[in-house]
Amino acid sequence: MAVIEVCDICRKEISKSNGITLDCSDWNGWDYPVGVPIRTERNYKVRICDKCKDNIIKYCKRNAR
Ligand SMILES: [Zn+2]
Repeated sequence: MAVIEVCDICRKEISKSNGITLDCSDWNGWDYPVGVPIRTERNYKVRICDKCKDNIIKYCKRNAR
């Protein structure tokens, strides 16, 4: 089964050999262990194609002090 991956920024399809995968985590998850919503850690992966990666690098360099 072919797995089609899409870039999380531009939504274009990317092949396995293209782009990078980032392991991300934040505290935007929600859980209800005792009926009260609490913030929980979320872990997810983000796929970014080479084109968007280059754009991010360019953007960061432009804004670097
Ligand atoms: Zn992209």
